[in-house]
Amino acid sequence: MKKNSTPVIIFCCTIIFGGTFVQTIYASPTNELETTSPEQETLEATPAPDLAEPLSKPIFIHVLLNELDAQTRSSHTISSSNGFVLESPIGLKKALWKKNTKITIIVKENTLYLQCKDGKYRNVINNNLAVTPIDGILHFDNRSYQGTLNIRVDKENKALLLINKISLDDYIYSVLRFESLSYWPLEMQKVQAVASRTYAVYQMLEARTKRGKNVGYDIKNTNFHQVYRGAHDCTHLRKAVEETHNMILTHNKGVALTMFDICCGGVVPSDMKKADPKKPYLYRTNQCTFCAKKSLFKWQEHLCPVEMLKQLKANKKVAHHLRPIKEITHMVVHERDKAGIAHKIRIANNEKSVIVPAADVKASLETKLKSLALDIKLRNEKVMLTGRGFGHNLGLCQLGARELVAQGWNFKDILAFYYPTTNLARLRPTSKTTVNEIKINT
Ligand SMILES: [Zn+2]
Repeated sequence: MKKNSTPVIIFCCTIIFGGTFVQTIYASPTNELETTSPEQETLEATPAPDLAEPLSKPIFIHVLLNELDAQTRSSHTISSSNGFVLESPIGLKKALWKKNTKITIIVKENTLYLQCKDGKYRNVINNNLAVTPIDGILHFDNRSYQGTLNIRVDKENKALLLINKISLDDYIYSVLRFESLSYWPLEMQKVQAVASRTYAVYQMLEARTKRGKNVGYDIKNTNFHQVYRGAHDCTHLRKAVEETHNMILTHNKGVALTMFDICCGGVVPSDMKKADPKKPYLYRTNQCTFCAKKSLFKWQEHLCPVEMLKQLKANKKVAHHLRPIKEITHMVVHERDKAGIAHKIRIANNEKSVIVPAADVKASLETKLKSLALDIKLRNEKVMLTGRGFGHNLGLCQLGARELVAQGWNFKDILAFYYPTTNLARLRPTSKTTVNEIKINT
């Protein structure tokens, strides 16, 4: 019988530890949990997904820290100075590992194993383990985290998922450190706190309400969503979280998708080709010129055509279009909208010409192409990219907002400027409703 098809058999016992009844979920891993007469028991998995309620109180968010191939062997160490509570997320079994300050897990062939005190690895029931520090924080993959680390194998996708369950407040506190600049003033941190919280809650509801698409986490920790890198020591940022506690932006009683980027480049979003007309708050008619003195407002990059072609062809999506192109002798924006956003780019050599989606070109060139508010010229054997802004040119312009704070605007007026038609509301989750909107006096 292969290891990954071994029935889950555990030693299960109830013991008294520190005045608390706990049950081991693994073969006695420490002396503290050893028992005199362990019984064998087979646990049946009960379908109790962690994300069953759209939003419950208190609010926790599940952040994907990493996703790895679960078929290939990998080893992971988790440490915490005062030990851990180990738990089966199905809620049946729990264990205290008080004297252990380090846990090693390995995954191979879609099966999760935990190293016990005797040095042997035993498979984890349901391939699903929650690790919570008894107090303080846990350290994992060279970073520190509050909350709980959930480690589980998604057998369907043959993936090892590492997910941090953390309170929404602690999550926003962390995000501020990485999506804002820590030395910006409090009012600017409050702008970002509301934008980031609203964005997070939007993603939480999307993840939890799309039937059949519940992947066990709400949001990724990268700029695919918003950057989250765990604990930090910029404690002054906590004030912005507290002073905007549970504040979000709503539109038509739903949570708004509050996109933001560092610099809008003066692009007027209402002139853009609308990706989603149901989100009018992303397509403001008022122009932000408050970022005009910043270097990102208008930028230039000069690229070598040979290097550029190499980089473009490294992206499979673009390489497909560029098959007939052996060198770049001509490159221009082929189609743009009224706002100046490029949608298609023409790339040619002396014989062939191809049209490539501009978004794919942007993805290939990464930060060398900061925005699709773009002009392209070939001059002196260089590709000259001239653009405005950095990002997607929608929603909050952080550098513009920072300037408005300097001019004395408060965070509510700034949010109203960048997200017109939204209301500032207070999130009040209950067990039955998702969002209970209360208007906040402005
Ligand atoms: Zn701007």
